Amino acid sequence: MQCDICGKQDVLYSTLIEGVEMQVCSACSGYGKVMKRVAVKKLQLIANEKSMLEHPAPSAAVSEVVVDTYHILIRNKREQLGLKQEDLAKVMNIKLSLMQHIEQKKFKPNVELAKRFEKQLKIKLVELYREDFEQSKGKPSDALTIGDIIKI
Ligand SMILES: [Zn+2]
Repeated sequence: MQCDICGKQDVLYSTLIEGVEMQVCSACSGYGKVMKRVAVKKLQLIANEKSMLEHPAPSAAVSEVVVDTYHILIRNKREQLGLKQEDLAKVMNIKLSLMQHIEQKKFKPNVELAKRFEKQLKIKLVELYREDFEQSKGKPSDALTIGDIIKI
């Protein structure tokens, strides 16, 4: 099973995003309301969690962010190439509704998806962003962790 947004092979969650139910990976599930975890073999999930523990995120400092003008950049380039939204959605292997939401700035692609757009359209959508560790450490996160989702 592949994530509907970034195409990653991963544990998937049925997630309600902009009123559309999609099967997305844990990284992309933060975009919407998680309804349920799509059944996967338990061993696979444990392996994923284990590898996350073995490779903790670096404590500092530089992260990648998607530029705020992503929707303009994508639309302009798509029109330049003479592609319809349907065409680009097909090439990107995403749903047309998602493509529309992206260009209407209703849905900000994550870094993974933005990088696929970069590759496809030869545009720049991802920037490096320096983050102070002390600040980010105290920042509350409202995203569901894998532990939270299992409890549901
Ligand atoms: Zn994903």
